[in-house]
Amino acid sequence: MSTAAAQTSQVSFYEKRATIYQAEVDGFWQRLRAAALFVLAGLYLVLPWVNYGQRQAVWFDLPTRKFHLFALTLWPQDFTLLALLMISGAFGLFFFTNLAGRLWCGFGCPQTVWTKFFMWIEWLTEGDRNQRILLDRRPWSLDKLARKAAKHAGWLVTCAVVGFTFVGYFEPIRDLIPRVAAANVTGAETVFLAIASLALYFDAGFMREQICKYACPYARFQGAMFDRHTWTIFYDPGRGEPRGHRGREVEPAKAGLGHCIDCAVCVQVCPTGIDIREGTQIECIGCAACIDACDEVMDKMSYPRGLVRYATEAIIQGRSARVLRPRLMAYGALFVAVTLVFAVELVRRVPLQLDVLRDRARLYRVTSDGSVENVYTLKVLNMDQKEHVYAVEIGTPEAGGPGAGIVLEGVDRVKVAAGDVRQLSVRLRAPASEPAVTSTSVDFRVRALDDPRLVVTEDSRFLAPASH
Ligand code: SF4
Ligand code: SF4
Repeated sequence: MSTAAAQTSQVSFYEKRATIYQAEVDGFWQRLRAAALFVLAGLYLVLPWVNYGQRQAVWFDLPTRKFHLFALTLWPQDFTLLALLMISGAFGLFFFTNLAGRLWCGFGCPQTVWTKFFMWIEWLTEGDRNQRILLDRRPWSLDKLARKAAKHAGWLVTCAVVGFTFVGYFEPIRDLIPRVAAANVTGAETVFLAIASLALYFDAGFMREQICKYACPYARFQGAMFDRHTWTIFYDPGRGEPRGHRGREVEPAKAGLGHCIDCAVCVQVCPTGIDIREGTQIECIGCAACIDACDEVMDKMSYPRGLVRYATEAIIQGRSARVLRPRLMAYGALFVAVTLVFAVELVRRVPLQLDVLRDRARLYRVTSDGSVENVYTLKVLNMDQKEHVYAVEIGTPEAGGPGAGIVLEGVDRVKVAAGDVRQLSVRLRAPASEPAVTSTSVDFRVRALDDPRLVVTEDSRFLAPASH
């Protein structure tokens, strides 16, 4: 075989995944992380069970396209609010990433949260890192089978609970239980339930760090938001190198060594299997396990903690930290500005909508007494949480001006239930004495009798024959 052919045969486009056996670690950051994970997972599991009034407090009602968030119900008409919320969230993420790296990945991302739960189940059923390595190398036995079965059963139960809760955000969860128990669920609900549960099973059970490494778009672009002053997890080579094994009694300076004892514990606890001593890497999810692990080693060696720690590139290079910098301030200003716009829009939002449709079949009708009538269909949409009675009116045109004297006939009051829409047929009539105009602007107004904030106006045209 030629040299070129030999080289070609060694090239692989796909790296074979080596199973990562993460070692357990305890410490300040892991306790903080566990607390964050329990709070977030608890919120996820409990929220669909909380009621607000007569309905589920958080409910994404897709068939009617309404998103209920406690006192607020967002309609498709509120798309601007939803867009502002998402833009505000994006700038918030940019701000915190530029300030403190992948905080979201390490402490808040659902992928991290559920993977951690799956790992706890793995530790409970298969033991610690060394026991798991040995178990996987051992030939199949009753004990191995029982441990693996217990692990997968634990994972599947977790998946069923998480998947069921997920569907419970879209269908009232209290109704869902008896329907699932009676196998009386729709095809869409079954598909949702299966996809949510199986996606979690493969993601948190098997894919794990590969999602962060290869599939997550945020992992790809978050590096662009980092700068020399971003706080993230660093190994301090100035203090750690030259690394090397030694006994506790050895004085590092005298032995020509740094503080890194090359124990590789920081690698063993890393959920993505990287070595933080090689510098900041795209695979690092900022879980801080290596900080806690190395601090434990430093304690045992009676060295100061912080060989691996939260720091900035500038600090590691011996320069001073800088918090306020143009990019961070720009992200922060945009985050605050968009959040304020969202808050103002939310406060100004009028949960009432009026649509006015002219009768297309007939532009106008001249009655026997010479007056002119136009017919309209009004759609009154009550987007509030309670029923209202609304007055239906038209704006009063200036006396003597075009449209003066036009009156509304048909309906002047309408009751609309919460979240409902009422359709009304109304007439506008211009008396025969009106000045001859072919097209006049008219304003329809709907206002709640019990709440002065709920007023909307919609303009339309009143048409009459030129000779009128
Ligand atoms: S845990 Fe600390 S001492 Fe051990 S290899 Fe990692 S950096 Fe070095
Ligand atoms: S290097 Fe590994 S252990 Fe350390 S923070 Fe990053 S992902 Fe976590």
